[in-house]
Amino acid sequence: MAATSEQRAAREAKLDELHEKLTSAVEQLVSGDDWREALAFSARFRSRSFNNTMLIWVQHQVAFDAGRVPEPFPTLVAGYRQWQGLGRQVMKGQPGYMIFAPVTGRFATATPSDSGSWRRLGPREKPKPGEVVRSRMVGARPAYVWDVSQTDGEPLPATPTPVLLEGEAPAGLWDGLAAQIRAAGFEVVSVADEMAIMGANGMTDYEARTVSVRENMPPAARVKTLAHELAHVMMHDPDDVEVRQHRGIREVEAESVALMIGAAHGMTTDGYTIPYVSTWATRADDKEPAQIVQATGERVRKTALAILDQLDTPQLSDGTPLGLERDTPTAKPTRAAARQLEPDRPHAVPVLAGRGL
Ligand SMILES: [Zn+2]
Repeated sequence: MAATSEQRAAREAKLDELHEKLTSAVEQLVSGDDWREALAFSARFRSRSFNNTMLIWVQHQVAFDAGRVPEPFPTLVAGYRQWQGLGRQVMKGQPGYMIFAPVTGRFATATPSDSGSWRRLGPREKPKPGEVVRSRMVGARPAYVWDVSQTDGEPLPATPTPVLLEGEAPAGLWDGLAAQIRAAGFEVVSVADEMAIMGANGMTDYEARTVSVRENMPPAARVKTLAHELAHVMMHDPDDVEVRQHRGIREVEAESVALMIGAAHGMTTDGYTIPYVSTWATRADDKEPAQIVQATGERVRKTALAILDQLDTPQLSDGTPLGLERDTPTAKPTRAAARQLEPDRPHAVPVLAGRGL
């Protein structure tokens, strides 16, 4: 149904209002003590080398297949004593995952610029006066780490987790969004579960020209994901030099568009969208998360309008309150709480991400 110019103007105003609400909801969420505490907590987990990440993934998969861990993808991983330091204990019968820990040696020299002059110091040896000391990696040794799901003890600091939408999808919305994705030259693929797409709900692959959405979610969550992926298709082609933003900004944009598409069809997506956008906005830059969200407003609104214009689904007209309630979602219990510290989980896992996710 073609919109009149008044309807368009009213819709634009509504989308602006919605975006302002999203921005303030993000601001409210990330300014809370819980959020800060959880960020400080997750900062204590160092990122690991690619090889170690792969080792952890593979061994976690084995543990999952053997029924020792409840989720197929690892979340927070730390050594035995590190877990103890965090008030948690590795549970009986949980073997650790082997990784390679760097072994470093101390080297000293009085003439740092002469690379041949460095000598390795013994375990307790002190440098001579005037010598400079540096540590260097000299080898690797096996070390063991455990996923949080293999430990119990004190609860982890938690920020709200994106909660999957429940219920039915608005009539015709899936088909309308899928048609736009196809028109952009992408194939829409339904995959059985998150295992097929690296733990994500959906994935856009610019090289293969596919948009995948997992089947094992409620229809409302699937259609919201499809809207998110359509936004990626329209906004984030990696060949377009103008859109090479930080991954965090791309995710903020795609999910904000999804919120608007949902809202125009009477869906409230905030239980998923607010924590998701907040998490990615927190990672995106050194700016305040709310500023990041604010700055994407124009591009987000433009994309949402372009998508809505192409849909002939029944949409809410002006004056009807759109989605996004003021309440921010509450934190889930421990296991779920551990997940949001790995913010890619609801969407995609970063370590393997070479292509557009
Ligand atoms: Zn995404």
